[in-house]
Amino acid sequence: MTPGERERYLRHLLLKEVGGQGQQKLKNARVLIVGAGGLGAPMIQYLAGAGVGTIGLADDDSVALSNLQRQVIYATGDIGAPKTERAKAFAQRLNPEIDVIEHRVRLDNANAREIVERYDLVAEGVDSFEARYAINRAAIAARRPLVSAAVGRFEGQLSLFKPFAGAGLPCYRCFAPAPPPREEAIDCEREGVFGPVVGVVGALAALEILKEILGVGESLAGRILLYDSLRSMARLAKLPADPACPDCGSIDRESR
Ligand SMILES: [Zn+2]
Repeated sequence: MTPGERERYLRHLLLKEVGGQGQQKLKNARVLIVGAGGLGAPMIQYLAGAGVGTIGLADDDSVALSNLQRQVIYATGDIGAPKTERAKAFAQRLNPEIDVIEHRVRLDNANAREIVERYDLVAEGVDSFEARYAINRAAIAARRPLVSAAVGRFEGQLSLFKPFAGAGLPCYRCFAPAPPPREEAIDCEREGVFGPVVGVVGALAALEILKEILGVGESLAGRILLYDSLRSMARLAKLPADPACPDCGSIDRESR
């Protein structure tokens, strides 16, 4: 580690759960963030700050004025520019030691596997079920852990899916077998979302990614965290695997 890196990461190096070895793991890690919006913004901030060595950003959107209420890495002057371009510039200003790779595409069944395979871990905060299912399938096929975050109105949810890592562990599809009816779906475009909620849930997603890379604490695999900002409350619920799941029902699972 260079003297500059030692100073940059000093508060991590002081934690025995991170230390020099953990910091090296972060430097070697390759994380794909799908969706450079409200949830992606804090993920980018904290992963870049933490020194995750390679961060991929997948998004095909441009910055809009209505994004700025919650997508905290963008500024008024970024309106109209591709999100991945501005997000990359933000991350590299924050930490020039890391590599940031742009994927200016919307992930779907045709392209997700090929992109996901280039990374160790995937985190998504996207706004469509079709994209979520495509990312889930690609992450299962490539056997990559998937951190999945969603928000709407004053609420958010977060989980980590790695069905291949053990019996009984679910994938995203086990949790959401089919898109919910429109009236029940959390949909921030239609119903709005309270700005700080995406910050809280996105920061929690970054935290779970770092825990997974470092191998510390208890993973959210098999559980979902439900955050209710108006009640200032979070709770954990168990998420079982669905043995009949079309996406993970027949994969090889490691014995734990
Ligand atoms: Zn499944």
